Amino acid sequence: MQYLAFFGLAGVMAALGVFYLLYPMTKKASSIVVSPRSFEQELLLTSQQRDSNYTTLQELDQDFAAGHLTEADYQELRARYKRQAVLTLMALDKLEARQQQIGLEIELAIAHQKTRLKSKDRAKVADLTLETSNCSRCGASVEPEASYCPKCGQKLAKLMV
Ligand SMILES: [Zn+2]
Repeated sequence: MQYLAFFGLAGVMAALGVFYLLYPMTKKASSIVVSPRSFEQELLLTSQQRDSNYTTLQELDQDFAAGHLTEADYQELRARYKRQAVLTLMALDKLEARQQQIGLEIELAIAHQKTRLKSKDRAKVADLTLETSNCSRCGASVEPEASYCPKCGQKLAKLMV
């Protein structure tokens, strides 16, 4: 029986050890991988929460006006609901700031991708930007409307469809 208890305990210790070693990794991984869907859902839920906070505060005011609440209860509940409303707005601000940041990151990624593309692939991203493009022969920068390269005279493919 003593041996069984010892092995049982050792097993638990080993399991805890593995968990202790792996937990920081799973935590780190989950903080990096944020799926767009869950972010959108969080944003939607938080804005719904904000609206419901306002409704709750409004209903509380109406209840108090109708004489259903004592002054003390009203003040306590109002302070609590208002604190909740403030926290929700702060969370929403944070989410919207993150959303804006994601938008900027996407623009940067597009710009980065664009510089990596070879000239034959430039037509594919032409509709993403109105900036100047480059000549397929000499690489000189040309206006999007230009039919011929001003530097080497290469006939330019029409980029805009
Ligand atoms: Zn050229």
